[in-house]
Amino acid sequence: MRYSALSIIKQALSGNRRWTPAWREPEPKPHYDVIIVGGGGHGLATAYYLAKEFGITNVAVIEKGYIGSGNVGRNTTIIRSNYLLEGNNPFYEMSLKLWEGLERDFNYNAMVSQRGVLNLFHSDGQRDEYARRGNAMRLHGVDADLLDREQVRRLAPYLNFDHGRFPVMGGLLQKRGGTVRHDAVAWGYARGADARGVDIIQHCEVTGIRRGPGGEVEGVETTKGFIGCNRLALAAAGNTTTVGRMADLALPIETHVLQAFVSEGLKPIIDNVITYGAGHFYISQSDKGGLVFGANIDYYSSYAQRGNLATVEETMQEGVSLIPGLSRAKALRAWGGVMDMSMDGSPIIDRTPIDNLYLNAGWCYGGFKATPASGFCFAHLIAKNETHHVSRFMRLDRFERGYVLDEGGKGPQPNMH
Ligand code: FAD
Repeated sequence: MRYSALSIIKQALSGNRRWTPAWREPEPKPHYDVIIVGGGGHGLATAYYLAKEFGITNVAVIEKGYIGSGNVGRNTTIIRSNYLLEGNNPFYEMSLKLWEGLERDFNYNAMVSQRGVLNLFHSDGQRDEYARRGNAMRLHGVDADLLDREQVRRLAPYLNFDHGRFPVMGGLLQKRGGTVRHDAVAWGYARGADARGVDIIQHCEVTGIRRGPGGEVEGVETTKGFIGCNRLALAAAGNTTTVGRMADLALPIETHVLQAFVSEGLKPIIDNVITYGAGHFYISQSDKGGLVFGANIDYYSSYAQRGNLATVEETMQEGVSLIPGLSRAKALRAWGGVMDMSMDGSPIIDRTPIDNLYLNAGWCYGGFKATPASGFCFAHLIAKNETHHVSRFMRLDRFERGYVLDEGGKGPQPNMH
């Protein structure tokens, strides 16, 4: 539906009485072809592509909270495909290409902004590492520019170029990287899936997984009763291990909190996404003017959606070390999300050893950018029972085989976001 400026003003003055909900609030049916646990970005994208690309519409997405209440609405919105390894790069590039056409595809404004992602380097060794990654990207047909110090200075004059220990020496720029309005992604996918017949069932927690005589999955116990299914797909992000345990599935995943911060609204200063190569700090500026930034995960396992003060302090230290002027901005809010940290930092999109049970997990702190490709590949796997070729390295048994995808989930240095 399209609205003119005048009709939007009228709606606002009348309390939006005539606006229709973007998706239905159905009661669960007794049985579905596919049930997806988790109404985050990955679960909703999977439902959308199952319906749109593979014609499977008898699908329910079961969400214990409301759509967007998980990490999809809590992240720092960075998207990019600047990976080194063959197991990662084509997958994230597929995702970036899907982002580039997403708003037209689901007819929803997700504010996809390709403002560029700049990873800074601070030593000769780090420059060589970045050059290698940039070359690998170009070999995969992905854009990458290695910038020297003066080129970085033109883009971001406010950085601490003369830091005594970590001077900015240059950076690797991916111009097609950027940011996307995270909650609009959840809403766009939810609306698109609902319009194709998918039931989105909010405020319904999965509390158990029912198995048949042969161990196969038959359905889920929920706070709204038992719901049967032919195939069960887990996309529960930070709660993956607790949901997996309901089927006696032990997973190579640990849950940690990641915090993020936003400052008061400021005039435009930061044009790109900037990441600090000497620490784990990343920053961009939202369209409202707030500086959006974050750093490391909290150092212990937790399912609480909030973090500790030591990490707040460390984040601020890193930020001010890179951008001294940041010390004069006021932090407005901080929040946390629970992340499914896999043991090699890379995700899993695979079948499980249990019949009818499929797994999408291990996104660590980099899963937002993966949302479209993850949804597409997971839908492909569920629909055809066949792994999509770009996700073929993201297997569950790689930890047993020793063939890990060890890129830290994020790029070359141990902690780059
Ligand atoms: P979620 O939105 O968390 O979806 C999972 C859903 O499952 C939740 O809504 C949860 O309520 C539901 N659920 C769990 N258990 C049950 C149950 N038993 N029954 C029913 N429902 C259940 N990634 C990037 O690429 N770029 C970034 O800049 C970035 N920044 C981040 C910053 C922060 C602070 C955080 C926390 C994460 C960040 N990430 C980033 C990571 C990214 O947000 C996640 O990897 C990704 O969102 C996870 O997938 P999801 O959207 O499906 O997760």
